[in-house]
This record gives sequence, C-alpha cells and structure tokens, in this order.
Amino acid sequence: MSFYGNMPAGGALEGAVPTLFEVLAAQEVDGLLPVALRYVLVKYWAERRPGRWSLACAGWFDEWCSLGLKGALEWYHLGRHDAAFVDKYYGLQQYDCSGQEGARAYISLALDGKLDQWPQKLRLRKSQRLVLWLQRVLAPYFRAKLDALHTRLQVRDALSPVQQWFKRLYPHFKRAWLLLDLCARLAFLSGATQSTSLLEWVFKVGYTRVLVPLHKEQATGPREYTRPPHYNSASVKHDMRTLLSQGWRIAAFTGSQVFPSCMFALKVYQWWIGQDLTTKLLRQINSIDKEIPRPPTDLTLRDLGSGNCPVCSLPITNPAIIETGFTMCYPCAVGYLREHEGRCPVTDARLLGCTFNADSGEWDVLPSVRKLLL
Ligand SMILES: [Zn+2]
Repeated sequence: MSFYGNMPAGGALEGAVPTLFEVLAAQEVDGLLPVALRYVLVKYWAERRPGRWSLACAGWFDEWCSLGLKGALEWYHLGRHDAAFVDKYYGLQQYDCSGQEGARAYISLALDGKLDQWPQKLRLRKSQRLVLWLQRVLAPYFRAKLDALHTRLQVRDALSPVQQWFKRLYPHFKRAWLLLDLCARLAFLSGATQSTSLLEWVFKVGYTRVLVPLHKEQATGPREYTRPPHYNSASVKHDMRTLLSQGWRIAAFTGSQVFPSCMFALKVYQWWIGQDLTTKLLRQINSIDKEIPRPPTDLTLRDLGSGNCPVCSLPITNPAIIETGFTMCYPCAVGYLREHEGRCPVTDARLLGCTFNADSGEWDVLPSVRKLLL
C-alpha cells in the first residue's frame, strides 16, 4: 500500500522526487514503531506478569528489537526492494544516483512510460545498502546508548580523562552532525541534491517515489506454467515450490494490508489513552477539594466530646481544629505542626494550609488551625 505512490506526476522529474514531508513522515513512523511496540510489551506483558522472561524481554528490548528484528527486516527490504521497511509503505525508494545525469534520464524515461522495468543501473550497490543499513539500524542504537551514557556521566563526579573528554565533546559532535544533516536536507529541499542526509549524499544515494516496477515479474505479471500432470520427483519439487511461493505471496499481501491497519489502530489507541489520561487527571484535580474534610461547624466533633488532646493526652484546653477534622489544644496544634512539617498528629497527612517559609526557616501553620469558640 503506497500512500503517495499514486500522486500525479508533474513535470519531467517533479513526480519522482518525494517531498521532504513524505521523507520526514516515513522517518517519524520509523521512530514511532519501536516505542509503540515497547509500550504494548511493557504495559500488557511485563507489568501484568513480571517474570524472568517478560522482564528480560523488556530489559533487552533495544538489543533484540532495534538491532535484531529491525536489522533483519531492513536488511531484507533493502536487499529486495531498495527501500527501507517503512519507506516501502510510503511508496518511497532509494537508488544509486552516482551517475547523476544518467539517473535523471532514466527516471524521466520511466515517467513517460518508456521503461517497463526499473533500470539495473539505478539499483543500489552493496556498499550503499550497507551504509543505509548502518544509518537506519546501528546509528540510532548507538546514539541512544551514547545519550544514556552522557546523561549518566553528568551526575558523576570522579571521571577518568577519557570520560571527561567524552562528556565535553559529545554534545558538540552531535550538534555539528545535526547541522550538517540539516544542510543536506535544505539542499534536498531546494532540489540541489537527491539525498536527504549527509551520509546518503556522500555515498550517492537518492530518493524517489516508486513509479516504475522494480522487478521484471512485476512489470509483466506472474507467468503461468502449464505442464502436463506427470508425477516424478522434479514435478513434485516444482509443485511444492509453486505452493510455497503462493503462500509467501499471500503472507506478503496480508502483511502489507495488516501493517498499515495496525499503525492506524496504534494511532487511535494512542489518542484514546491520551484522552483517558486527561479525564483521569481532571477528575483527580476536581476531587482534591472533596477529599479534604470540611471543618465541622457544630459540636458533634470526633474528639471534643469524649477524648483528650491527641498531642498532650490531657483534657483539651483552648480548643482548636485542624484541616483533618481533629481537635486539640491550640498551643499543642501549632507546636506539633511546626515541629512535624505540617503533618496531622493523628493521620500523619500533610495539611494543605501548612507551607514552609524560606525566609524565617519555619513552617507557617496558622492557616491550618482554627480556634473554636465554645
Ligand atoms: Zn494538648
């Protein structure tokens, strides 16, 4: 399913060159997928059934998913389709643009419908595929690890010279790289280059929309084999192979349909969770006031009738009431709250009226205490 593949081709080359937004959108989805997968994994497996396997799976997520799974997936897609996994679903494709003029000529021929197959000269070379794979798989993995290391070093005091050097230079290095990448993108946007990143520009890798078929079979359609039913080992092998390739085709088709649906479902789910969280927070904010007991206005007080002061354990003199609804002697209440950071002597709950006064270095507790006039 190519989202932008059906856009009308404009002038000679405009139709083949994807906009920067298409490239960025594909990259955004590429970055979102592991995050979404990790969220689902942790929320629905590791949190509900914490065990050896689920925790190891969550703990080594970067290694098995970002390196293993994504690495294999990208390697397969780059090798077979000259496009990264997500790019393929956005209808984008990469090609060898080392012969600049030749490449442009080929693409404009293809746009005019004069080529019935993707020209071999435009297929990526092995070294280019390797660079793209490094850029897609290894670079994000190591960037995340180095970022984490840099954050850890920020709070450590005793550092070796190498660590100090790394701590000082890493942000500069990252900034410089980002700036160069931005220049490459601007050059792409202005039409000066066909590559969207610095590495791609150095290794002459261009971006295009998939407008011409990649393989000859796709151009001419699958060929039918009509053989007389004559059973021997070769024919059985051939039948098995046909069956397998049919199965593979069905699996690929199902995958191509299921994948965008899953992405859509994930987006809806993300939106739903966001909504849920907002209402939950709003409800909590609204109920804060309700959770605080109102100071009783009549004399049916919990401690005043029967009990003594909870602080000094003597009959209450000079009664006062605090936010949690308990009564005690006024001097006891003020003294206790000042000494215990504004916590109720009975429930140990922090009283909202008590605040720390930084100027005097004391707890300001008077707003929490009300004198009772009996
Ligand atoms: Zn007392």
